[in-house]
Amino acid sequence: MELYNSLIRETRALVDKLPAKVWDYDPRAAWASDSANELVLQKDAAYELGASGRGSANFVLFTSSAELGGRDQVVLCGRDLREIKGDCDFARIVILRIGVLEDEDEAVYRTLRDIEFAKYHVYPQGYMVRISPESYREQVRVSRDAVRRGISFKALGMNYIQAYKQDPNVISATVIFLTDPAADYAAFKALAKKSADVTGTLTHIFEGLPTDCSACALKDICDEVEGMKELHFGVGDKGREHKH
Ligand code: SF4
Repeated sequence: MELYNSLIRETRALVDKLPAKVWDYDPRAAWASDSANELVLQKDAAYELGASGRGSANFVLFTSSAELGGRDQVVLCGRDLREIKGDCDFARIVILRIGVLEDEDEAVYRTLRDIEFAKYHVYPQGYMVRISPESYREQVRVSRDAVRRGISFKALGMNYIQAYKQDPNVISATVIFLTDPAADYAAFKALAKKSADVTGTLTHIFEGLPTDCSACALKDICDEVEGMKELHFGVGDKGREHKH
């Protein structure tokens, strides 16, 4: 699965410009979590991450490359939750190294969807997440109580890694949190859109879209993303004649 590799390189280049703290995976350090998203009322909130009017981006990138996939790690660029005093910019980016994706067929695509779904199964206490897939944003309301109890991105990152690693196809997960005002949130949002475009194109390919590039609305994406056309022509269009 190399379709997301150029996006991973661009993402890492943007992150590498910023000072960062890095922690290796330790499931014992995870924050307490619930079985459902906790409602944090405005009156109980310390602040919001990625609130409207602030920079915000959220996306997942997949690779089978050991070099690009990295290790089970949490990365933080910017202030930690206890140091934040008011609403601020926020991005959460996940890079997953996956192992199963040798034969690129429908099972591969389903695996990606299942893995992406894992992000909806992390419910840290005092940390109310609202994901907006259409705008590639993630907004989080953090409770004063959680801040008092010492919630941190290190601990939260462990919760996310734990959730992703429940899928046996995930070899490693790197979770990157950004709150640094110097980060290029517009560029991260553009990368989030491209990542969603790649996943969306995969959906169309596996739904049996005809392989007629000249009449296809996804041509711009396939021209840009290496391997997409090969994938579609490999999968075929369920019996239709191929037109190049
Ligand atoms: S390979 Fe061609 S037909 Fe298939 S999704 Fe891409 S542009 Fe469309």
